[in-house]
Amino acid sequence: MRGLMMDVPLNVSSILKHAARFDGGVEIVSRTVEGPIHRYTYREAAGRAAQLAHALRALGVEEGVRVATVAWNGYRHFECYYGIGGIGAVAHTINPRLHPNQIAYLINHADDRYVFVDLTFVPLLEALAPHLPRVRGYVIMTGEVTMPATSLPNALCYETLLAKEPATIAWPVLEENTACGLCYTSGTTGDPKGVLYSNRSQVLHAMSVCIAGATRRNESTGVMMPIVPMFHVNAWGYPFAAPLMGSKLVFGGPLHDPASLYEMIESEGVTTAAGVPVIWLGLLAYLEQTGKSLGSLRSMGVGGSAAPPSMIAAYERRGIEVIHGWGMTETSPVCTNGSVKAKHRSSDLTEQLKHQMKAGHLVFGVETKVVDEEGHVVPDDGRTQGELYVRGPWVASAYYNNAEATAGQFTDDGWFRTGDVVSIDDEGYITICDRAKDLIKSGGEWISSIDLENAAVAHPEVAEAAAIAIPHEKWAERPLLLVVRRPGSSLDRDAVIAFLDDKIAKWWMPDDVIFVDELPHTATGKVSKRTLRAQYAQPNGVAP
Ligand code: AMP
Repeated sequence: MRGLMMDVPLNVSSILKHAARFDGGVEIVSRTVEGPIHRYTYREAAGRAAQLAHALRALGVEEGVRVATVAWNGYRHFECYYGIGGIGAVAHTINPRLHPNQIAYLINHADDRYVFVDLTFVPLLEALAPHLPRVRGYVIMTGEVTMPATSLPNALCYETLLAKEPATIAWPVLEENTACGLCYTSGTTGDPKGVLYSNRSQVLHAMSVCIAGATRRNESTGVMMPIVPMFHVNAWGYPFAAPLMGSKLVFGGPLHDPASLYEMIESEGVTTAAGVPVIWLGLLAYLEQTGKSLGSLRSMGVGGSAAPPSMIAAYERRGIEVIHGWGMTETSPVCTNGSVKAKHRSSDLTEQLKHQMKAGHLVFGVETKVVDEEGHVVPDDGRTQGELYVRGPWVASAYYNNAEATAGQFTDDGWFRTGDVVSIDDEGYITICDRAKDLIKSGGEWISSIDLENAAVAHPEVAEAAAIAIPHEKWAERPLLLVVRRPGSSLDRDAVIAFLDDKIAKWWMPDDVIFVDELPHTATGKVSKRTLRAQYAQPNGVAP
């Protein structure tokens, strides 16, 4: 028997509509690229998202059309999330730190028709524009006074576009599986892979983020600041979760140095913020150096890479609850809740910290299984390791237009293989033990080992190369390159570094190059990264 309940589709536009109506006076505060702090309310944001939606339609952006953003965290980027997604178009958020060739690949692969770009990234797009034949125009996210002279073809001013349009709209009721967002993530081989979020997945994910927020030890979701970029998995859902709860939202714009973050957190009374470990390590060092303390911050979300236990303990000792979570671009990303379960809160801090060192406990909505190398599902005993498989309403079912990558990571019976090696205990806490995928994660961003190796072996004197992750105190991991020279070659470190210089993004550059006579191989002939990691994975690549 079918239930007699209304079949109302979940649409992202309804989040902003709700916030504008019932929390209309709550603020969104942004540090702008132009300099000053900008503040307005959800009511005003909703009006401007409506103006943007009208402007997009006037430009011919229809349902399903991809529109890219290359921008920092800020109010105009927030408007893009809703203005683009709300009309059934797709907001494709792009990581500007990628190599320009990769950015061009992404825009062409996604077939983006318009690119919204912050002032900072106009020169980047100017250089790329000749390689982007299908882009119809570039919308520079600024006002008329600060509009730069640019060689971008069909450059439009964001504020001029909006000014012509009405600030009200009847948002279309979209079938809830209609796509609204697209974010690419680095692959182990080849080019980045696109994850295409739907209205339904974003709304359900945002609700889950709110539940995780509501179960925190410290009451803390009043003022939310995603430090994690809006181009990185939708800033972990904060731009949807905050309006859903009626929380004030704070955006740090282009400045990520500890002093600027501190100032923004303190001046806006931020109660919870989210970012990768390198951000929090920097802020901790700043607090220690200056003797300052954080007055308003009650909790902090940390994920994307393993949070160092000493850092978790240091913040907890300062009275800030550390929410250590695990997730992926493919999982929207939140899969675990890092707050201590209610039943453990009466234990002392040392006991609670044991839980917080893990990567959170699994949230309802994300189903998991852990599979060992023989293909057996292992028990939730907190010890036995295997690859983590997940499925759920905010987990991708395929990569966008990429059958090959999809075949490699999605099983026929509906699971997504994460490539993370974990153990899960009987309370759902997960421990990340290793990574089956051949990637390096530095400062929360991916470096493809295989791309690095391919760049290195293009050198005529390199016979074979392997890139591995070396633990690093600040960046979590940094690349180390191992090279086998061709016979007779006297190639040295500096020559390899100089050769790579214009072929990879600056921050991909290996911290060191070590020359070896041969590389270890597995039975199937692949380089055994596990052996290399065991041999070289000491800080700074010094063999144990
Ligand atoms: P991304 O898609 O860029 O968000 O990267 C997701 C990957 O980051 C995961 O598959 C893990 O390898 C890694 N990761 C995310 N959170 C954590 C964490 N808390 N501890 C260790 N690794 C993490």
